[in-house]
Amino acid sequence: MSFKPIKLEKFIADHMENNPKSNEQEIRTTLQNALKDFKSGVKCSCGLDIWVIGSSMVGNNCFNCITGEHDPSNDFELAEALPKNQDLYFEESNNIPPEVLTQGRFFTDDGEELNPDLFPIPSLCLGCVHYGDPNEEILCTLTRLDQAADKEFVCHAFKNKNDDKMPF
Ligand SMILES: [Zn+2]
Repeated sequence: MSFKPIKLEKFIADHMENNPKSNEQEIRTTLQNALKDFKSGVKCSCGLDIWVIGSSMVGNNCFNCITGEHDPSNDFELAEALPKNQDLYFEESNNIPPEVLTQGRFFTDDGEELNPDLFPIPSLCLGCVHYGDPNEEILCTLTRLDQAADKEFVCHAFKNKNDDKMPF
């Protein structure tokens, strides 16, 4: 998950081909200035390395702050300005398993956050061997939230906690 690298001269050539009316000298100068800033360690106000191509147009900022996005893999950056801090940052955030990122937080399919505390625990859960087991907590909460609007609560993971006791 990082930028598509492009050489400065190739970027300018492509840009001129697509925008023949552009001022080539001005583009080269602003790019070189932003590249110089990057190399001298100028950072975005958020602390990440600046995105040189974007910064040459809108001022020195990182990709996140300029685009509001977190995935630069569809965007170009000067090969001369790679790798950058963001690459590490993106790899790290992509290595975090989603269940850790969202641990303790639950969302509807529409992205609305749900507060599990607002939903009553079904009586079925209270008699279940999984109830109160920290390893099952997320699964149980998801199952409950899934059916929060349903009249009857059904859980296929239900296991009567009394079943564990030997009946004889
Ligand atoms: Zn930033």
